[in-house]
Amino acid sequence: MKPFTYERAKTPAEAAAAVARTPGAKFIAGGTNLLDLMKLEIETPTHLVDIQDLKLDRIEPTSGGGLRIGAFATNTATASDPRVRRDYGVLTRAIVAGASGQLRNKATTAGNLLQRTRCPYFYDPNMPCNKRKPGSGCSALGGYSRQLGIVGTSDACIATYPGDMAQAMRVLDASVETVDPQGQTRSIPIGDFHRLWGDTPHIETNLRRGELITGVTLPRPLGGQHFYQKVRDRASYAYALVSVAAVIQPDGSGRFAVGGIAPKPWRVAAADAAMPQGAKAAAAALLAGARPTEDNRFKVPLVERTLAAVMAEAKAA
Ligand SMILES: Cc1cc2nc3c(=O)[nH]c(=O)nc-3n(C[C@H](O)[C@H](O)[C@H](O)COP(=O)(O)OP(=O)(O)OC[C@H]3O[C@@H](n4cnc5c(N)ncnc54)[C@H](O)[C@@H]3O)c2cc1C
Ligand code: SF4
Repeated sequence: MKPFTYERAKTPAEAAAAVARTPGAKFIAGGTNLLDLMKLEIETPTHLVDIQDLKLDRIEPTSGGGLRIGAFATNTATASDPRVRRDYGVLTRAIVAGASGQLRNKATTAGNLLQRTRCPYFYDPNMPCNKRKPGSGCSALGGYSRQLGIVGTSDACIATYPGDMAQAMRVLDASVETVDPQGQTRSIPIGDFHRLWGDTPHIETNLRRGELITGVTLPRPLGGQHFYQKVRDRASYAYALVSVAAVIQPDGSGRFAVGGIAPKPWRVAAADAAMPQGAKAAAAALLAGARPTEDNRFKVPLVERTLAAVMAEAKAA
């Protein structure tokens, strides 16, 4: 691991300013992704700003009837919060489908949103990778791409955003709250938070330099039935090949977002609107323009089948 310096910030604005003024600085939360990447020297921060003292771990109601989840709330605390379990079941289900109990005890809201792709070539410093080293090429194109993306990808990168929690947040229309180094706050709709790769796959979100996530706000509850179905190669401790987060109302209308297929939680308004016509129509609308590889072509029917399974469960209940 490369040497680095370390500090514990006392306020969110101080943390943001510390990262902004130090070239190569990064925030550290639970460390479950960042430290692994540092050990492999894929991430080489010169300075770490620890955010554990910022009191960003609270989960509290908003004046608009929703819920605000602190950036430093652990995945375990969020998934087990009685208000989340009662009103935002899709979020509890998505979180507990991820990683392991030990990891969820350390992993935080913000760190989970910002976890990096699991493309095998990204983790192999001997192989070209535009995301790790801009302009070096993409080893997955023409290489091993079973896990990788089928929609929203580019000629520069076909990796996916790998997490589970964000799919649920996308279905719930959550907003990511931030503070910048000048102390200015802003609220980013989760659909605008992660970027498509385009020609710059190393830039993964619309956060600015030094901008600290302080929390995620969920709007008032949607009601309906909540589902998170994750299809993976192993029953636990594995990332999604395809996952479906859905909220379905008694009349068959609803909304869904799919993971494991794109650079961001993939939700399309026309696909939500097609849900009453069935899984085939909804999946076709969701995957319009998909560009699968030979290795991951199976994900196209898998999206439809996973959605069909969720819709059948909703009907049977
Ligand atoms: C073996 C293994 C299996 C896993 N399986 C799954 C899985 O199935 N599903 C899943 O969803 N996840 C899985 N994960 C990933 C895990 O959920 C993430 O590592 C975790 O959520 C990251 O959170 P963290 O707080 O530890 O982030 P950190 O590692 O501390 O940080 C991650 C990134 O976020 C940045 N950051 C952290 N907090 C802030 C903030 N407040 N503002 C701005 N930037 C910030 C850091 O600078 C860093 O770039 C797995 C991880 C491991 C190691
Ligand atoms: S798909 Fe993206 S992360 Fe994977 S090798 Fe290509 S550029 Fe790198």
